[in-house]
Amino acid sequence: MTQYTETAATEAEAPYELTALDRCDACGAQAYIRVVVSNGELLFCAHHGRKHQEKLSQIAHSWHDESSRLLVDTRD
Ligand SMILES: [Zn+2]
Repeated sequence: MTQYTETAATEAEAPYELTALDRCDACGAQAYIRVVVSNGELLFCAHHGRKHQEKLSQIAHSWHDESSRLLVDTRD
């Protein structure tokens, strides 16, 4: 009795756009980093994402980092 379920294997690289409504859990600034852990997800600004990266990377299921947009979107 072999049944294969058709689950997409592309989930890991699914695009996720963080918006201005997503706020850092630590300081409330706009979030650019989204971390999925076993009991939920965490949002961080670039600063706090870096600060917690070493510790969180050990338990993170996925690490989504859009902080590079900070470097792109800074023209006036
Ligand atoms: Zn922050």
